[in-house]
Amino acid sequence: MTDARSATILIVEDEEKYRRLLKTNLLLEGYQVTEAGNGHDALQAVYGREPDAIVLDLRLPEMDGFQLCRRLRQITSTPILALTALNTEADLIHALDLGADDYMTKPFSLQELLARLRALIRRSSGDAAEATLSCGDISLVPDVRELAIRDARNRLTPTEWKLMQEFVGNCGKVLTHEHLLTKIWGPEYRTDHEYLRVYVRKLRACLEPNPRRPVYLITQAGIGYILYPKPHA
Ligand code: CA
Repeated sequence: MTDARSATILIVEDEEKYRRLLKTNLLLEGYQVTEAGNGHDALQAVYGREPDAIVLDLRLPEMDGFQLCRRLRQITSTPILALTALNTEADLIHALDLGADDYMTKPFSLQELLARLRALIRRSSGDAAEATLSCGDISLVPDVRELAIRDARNRLTPTEWKLMQEFVGNCGKVLTHEHLLTKIWGPEYRTDHEYLRVYVRKLRACLEPNPRRPVYLITQAGIGYILYPKPHA
């Protein structure tokens, strides 16, 4: 398990003022910090040494944060916390869609940012000792963090993995929105249903023969979701 105190955080931000503020505070918290002012340098940094978490500003010159998010997800499953000055929910949900694990709007509280980073690092560490979990057609393979169903295998991000673990571990039971949000993201997220919607859509893309007509991960309107071990009509 990664000790949060020795974890390395990559800050991707073109504005020096913000970068310095973040760096100073992360160093004070005992993190190691690497920095990048643009997408190219961010990718180089990740190739050089994979960080334990990435703080990514979505407003960057040249390659924008959305493109970068997608590129990063092709090469790493390190948790990504996206930052934006724009408070447009569509943008932020788009960032989650492209593989960010969490997001915050500027100006943000440093204490909250630190709390969210701790949660992200906690969520992504300590998977190695887990046993394979399965229910019916669906298996979770921990060392490679893959979701296997029939002949298909999909690598999951840390957040997708935790959510899928919760579903597989409670196969056939209704799990409420509040339970899932509290368990995976933390109690302060229990009403943030959009996180869950985005992630359920991602999981369905891996699980379902036709994601538009789910037969495994079924919505219980107004309540939550239920994962079935076999296709459920
Ligand atoms: Ca920026």
